[in-house]
Amino acid sequence: MSRVFNFSAGPAVLPEAVLERARDELLDWHGSGMSVMEMSHRGKDFTAIAAKAEADLRRLLDVPDHYRVLFVQGGASQQFAMVPLNLLPPGASADYLDTGTWSVKAIEEASRLGRAHVVASSQPTRYTTIPPRADWQLDPEAAYVHYTPNETIVGVEFLEVPEVGDKPLVADMSSTILSRPIDVSKFGLIYAGAQKNIGPAGLTLVIVREDLLGHARRDCPTMLDYTVFAQHDSMYNTPPTFGWYLAGLIFEWLLEQGGLPAMAERNARKAGKLYAYIDASGFYRNPVDPACRSWMNVPFRLADETLDKTFLAEAAAAGLTSLAGHRIVGGMRASLYNAMPEAGVDALISFMRDFVQRRG
Ligand code: PMP
Repeated sequence: MSRVFNFSAGPAVLPEAVLERARDELLDWHGSGMSVMEMSHRGKDFTAIAAKAEADLRRLLDVPDHYRVLFVQGGASQQFAMVPLNLLPPGASADYLDTGTWSVKAIEEASRLGRAHVVASSQPTRYTTIPPRADWQLDPEAAYVHYTPNETIVGVEFLEVPEVGDKPLVADMSSTILSRPIDVSKFGLIYAGAQKNIGPAGLTLVIVREDLLGHARRDCPTMLDYTVFAQHDSMYNTPPTFGWYLAGLIFEWLLEQGGLPAMAERNARKAGKLYAYIDASGFYRNPVDPACRSWMNVPFRLADETLDKTFLAEAAAAGLTSLAGHRIVGGMRASLYNAMPEAGVDALISFMRDFVQRRG
């Protein structure tokens, strides 16, 4: 067996210890004689797995009691619609901050269901900055304020939670959740697709303040209504049981690692050394304002873009894979989620250095 250092933005690398445990438990989960995939979601074994996963997530994020944790399907993209279906009354308007491709997708979807007012946009800087808070045109009548704490494609991350007064703050945390501690009480609703820091694709996590439940529009389909998920412990229908179980194993692994403070320390160090090398290299370049560089996704360009294909091929041959930038921006991108070991970042930096030297 030879595992690579996989820098994919998602689906992304999972902790090896978790994969090994899932393998060991695959055919016969804890003497049940079956795999988790084969269990009834309503049986005592799976309900225990589900409850433990939620309890561990609550511990990790210190989720207050008046928040519900929902295990949903449809990816973060489905949340772009579920958020307005549940929180935006007909005829009302919501505030959206535009900091990149994922913000734009959320805005476009909300615009199909109501009014999405863009409070500020970093599009003029090609999404390499975050618009200064003083320039945001918040609407006093807005139903909520939506933003994307980490823009996965350009690698822009909010290092602070923005202050938006008493409006519910809604955050697409797909590519930053569990990478550092957050104060959940500052948010009305948090959502995240699983396939980066949570587990395999197919599961979507929603953390919602209880008072925001019960307000879905009347024509909201059952399976898009947060309240239905909350009332049925996310088991109105058959949930993605295996993904939920694997997420639970990841949460346990994170707790064993020392929880989110330990992850934050490790993630800051991983990203810090890669940015430091890029900036000092004279060959690679990251265009993002250093005040908002992502810890999770580090895009970079080569001084000579005709070498891109060679770089990717040689990196893959060295066991460093999935380094191509998103197709809409090109260049390179190294995603450094929780499960990327520090050794992977060291190997990448050493490869990048050799690549330049060989062309010296
Ligand atoms: N939001 C962000 C910030 C993302 O990074 C992604 C996926 N890369 C999405 C939304 C879309 O997620 P999904 O594929 O789960 O719909």
